[in-house]
Amino acid sequence: MQRNPTLFITGGSRGIGAATARLGAAAGFDVAITYVSNADAAAAVVRDVEKTGRKAFAVQCDTQSPAAIEAAFAEVDRRFDRLDAFFNNAGILGPAARFVDIPIAQLTSVLAVNTTGAFVAAQAAVRRMSTRLGGKGGAIVNMSSIAAKLGGPFEATDYAFSKGGIDTLTVGLAKELAAEGVRVNAVRPGLIYTDIHDSSGIAGRVEKLKANVPMQRGGTAEEVAEAVLWLLSDKASYVTGTLVDVAGGRGL
Ligand code: NAP
Repeated sequence: MQRNPTLFITGGSRGIGAATARLGAAAGFDVAITYVSNADAAAAVVRDVEKTGRKAFAVQCDTQSPAAIEAAFAEVDRRFDRLDAFFNNAGILGPAARFVDIPIAQLTSVLAVNTTGAFVAAQAAVRRMSTRLGGKGGAIVNMSSIAAKLGGPFEATDYAFSKGGIDTLTVGLAKELAAEGVRVNAVRPGLIYTDIHDSSGIAGRVEKLKANVPMQRGGTAEEVAEAVLWLLSDKASYVTGTLVDVAGGRGL
C-alpha cells in the first residue's frame, strides 16, 4: 500500500505552523503538530487536516523542555511509520525593550525556546532521519527570522540574537548531514500577520512597521508556509544550507 509522506511541525496550533499544517495536508502530508497551551486551536488544525483525508494528531510540548521534545518525537514514532519532514518552527517574542532594558529572565526564555529548543528538536529529527543512523533520510526547515540579519535594534535584540543561532545551526547541519540523506534549510520571514506580535506590547506592530518593507505590506502565514513546503519537498532536492528570506524585500 502506498504511504503518505509525514510532516512534524513544532508550534503548529497557530500562525505560520498552522498554515503549514493545512497547506501541507493539501500537498499530501500526514501531519503531526505540537502546541503548548492552546489545545482548541491545535484540535481545529487537526480537524482541518483530517478533512483532506490525511492523518493528523496534536501533542502538547513546551520546547523549553528537552524531555517534552523527546516525548513528542516518541509520539510521532508511535503514530507514523517514519518521519520524512520536520518544520522546526516553535518560537516566542518577548516584550519590546531597548537592549540595556531586556530582563535576563526574558533573554533566557527566548533562547530556551527559539535556540536551544530548536537545537534539541533538530537532534531528535536527525536521529530519526540520518541514513548513517539507520534512517531513510528527510528534510528539515528551521524557523529563523529576517531579524537575524537586521539585529532587532531598539526592541528585540534578544529575539534577533536567538534567531542568529538558527542561521548558524542551519549551515552547520546542512554540511554535516548532506551525505546522510538529510537536507537542512531555514526560512527568514519578515513582518507576518500572526499573534506573535501581541507579545511585543506594540499594538498593530505590523501595520506600524510595514512602511519600512519594500513591498509596503506585511506577509501572510500562508506565504511563508509555501516556501517551507517547497524546501521540504523533493522539488528542492538539490537545496541545502539555504536561508530563504520571505520578507517582501525587508533586509535587502
Ligand atoms: P504564533 O502565531 O504566536 O504561534 C506560535 C506557535 O508556537 C503556537 O503554535 C504556540 O502554541 C507555539 N509555542 C509558543 N510558545 C511555545 C513553547 N514554549 N514551546 C513550544 N511551542 C510554543 O507565532 P508565529 O508568528 O506563527 O511564529 C512561528 C515562528 O515564526 C516563530 O519561531 C517566530 O519566531 C517565527 N517568525 C515569525 C514572524 C512573524 O512576523 N510572525 C517573523 C519571523 C519569524 P500555542 O498555540 O499553544 O500557544
